[in-house]
Amino acid sequence: MDATDVVVLGAGPAGVGAAYRAARAGHRVVVLERSTVPGGAAGSFEVAGIRVDHGSHRLHPSIDPPILAELRRLLGDELQERPRNGRIRLAGRWIAFPLRPGDLARRLPRDFALAAARDALTAPLRRPRRDTFAEVLRAGLGPTMCERFYFPYARKIWGVEPDELSGAQARRRVAAASPSRLLRRVLRGSREGRSVFHYPRGGFGRIVEVLAEAAAEAGAEFRYGTAVTGVDLAADGVRVRTDGGAAVDAARAWSTLPLPMLARLATPEPPAGVLPAAGRLKFRAMLLVYLVLDRPRYTEFDAHYLPEPSTPVTRVSEPRNYRDGGDPPDRTVLCAELPCTAGDDLWSLGDAELGALVEDGLARQGLPRPGAAAVHVRRLPHAYPVYRAGFERAFAPLDAWAGAQPRLLTFGRQGLFAHDNSHHALAMAWAAADALGSDGSFDDGAWAAARERFAAHVVED
Ligand SMILES: Cc1cc2nc3c(=O)[nH]c(=O)nc-3n(C[C@H](O)[C@H](O)[C@H](O)COP(=O)(O)OP(=O)(O)OC[C@H]3O[C@@H](n4cnc5c(N)ncnc54)[C@H](O)[C@@H]3O)c2cc1C
Repeated sequence: MDATDVVVLGAGPAGVGAAYRAARAGHRVVVLERSTVPGGAAGSFEVAGIRVDHGSHRLHPSIDPPILAELRRLLGDELQERPRNGRIRLAGRWIAFPLRPGDLARRLPRDFALAAARDALTAPLRRPRRDTFAEVLRAGLGPTMCERFYFPYARKIWGVEPDELSGAQARRRVAAASPSRLLRRVLRGSREGRSVFHYPRGGFGRIVEVLAEAAAEAGAEFRYGTAVTGVDLAADGVRVRTDGGAAVDAARAWSTLPLPMLARLATPEPPAGVLPAAGRLKFRAMLLVYLVLDRPRYTEFDAHYLPEPSTPVTRVSEPRNYRDGGDPPDRTVLCAELPCTAGDDLWSLGDAELGALVEDGLARQGLPRPGAAAVHVRRLPHAYPVYRAGFERAFAPLDAWAGAQPRLLTFGRQGLFAHDNSHHALAMAWAAADALGSDGSFDDGAWAAARERFAAHVVED
């Protein structure tokens, strides 16, 4: 059983990045992807002739420099550097986001600013009483920022009370989780003027598209429209079965599928306790509602962040404001993000009802009513991992089971149940390919060291 060297499951940034690096290093690679295109959650597609993403996507400047250099080489001047221009709704006001000191001082209501400053000064006196999202942030930032911003936002994003979420959700998801880190971020914004991000002119998905093209040029074979339906694990190789009936035999399988899904697809069946644990790891789903507007621009801002509970929309972005040039002059598209649970009432609403819900929500936040000419909806069943308190007890047996399979590797946002950015997924891809020796051996020590680095990833908004 050794037809190809590596079969990669999933063609998001993690899978395609790994396929690219492994193929460039001379390995035979086959990629299996359920969708008809590469990109995963970081892919782009067209709505009304405009390239859009799955919600607001930016390439953060904290990306590893060698990976950025490779993307620059592949994308050329298509990869633009753009100033961020977002706003967040705080205490009924619009504040520049990322936060800037001058703007904060000018716009934040006085009582809010004073209470937040007092909380910052008293931070050294607070300690978390339990390892929950609520306690970690209350100790770090104090009650004002928590009650008026982070807690309402957390309820919308994860659908769980902040004190039912693990402290890990705060450490890995909130980059400004203490006054000093918050201050550093605000000051960084002020020193550099506006913070910047990288974005390809043709949509965020161009990153994975060019990597897939380069991987194919290096010999990787991509099979799109091919869902993985079974993963047979043996000591000397792997057979991956697909919905078309075809199977791929390989020396190694690198999976970027959701880890609980991988465990359910595996034979032999994982030992007792693993599948029940898989059932306890939950992902938050996301509805993406695209509104087509018959006007050149909705606002000058790239994104509006909406933590307030009066609308289920957490963020609305306008793709044309993420790039310079190339979009039609007479229309624009908005993308509203509505976190939910797959199968719940919100998830099941029709396009027109969702369009109306978004229009009302934006108007209630003081934004112009969009008056959309058309509505398109996309559904992501695995948008965010939900770190309920104690989730580690469900993750650990699954991770240990996967780690004990000699020919299996699991990584990427879904594969490691990590709320990571694309640049983190690419770092995982690079690390996986780097650990693969030219003779097909795998450096477990290098991978273990890489896993420690991944554990320090903090999500950037
Ligand atoms: C709303 C939102 C906003 C985000 N904003 C940003 C941002 O601003 N910047 C940033 O860097 N990142 C952002 N991210 C995160 C980014 O999208 C992810 O980090 C990235 O997509 C993870 O890549 P991945 O390859 O690990 O997983 P995915 O992109 O999820 O790819 C997994 C792939 O596996 C495929 N698959 C699943 N099941 C099967 C099966 N049975 N058979 C075959 N294929 C299968 C899927 O179709 C998918 O293509 C955002 C994510 C969301 C949801």
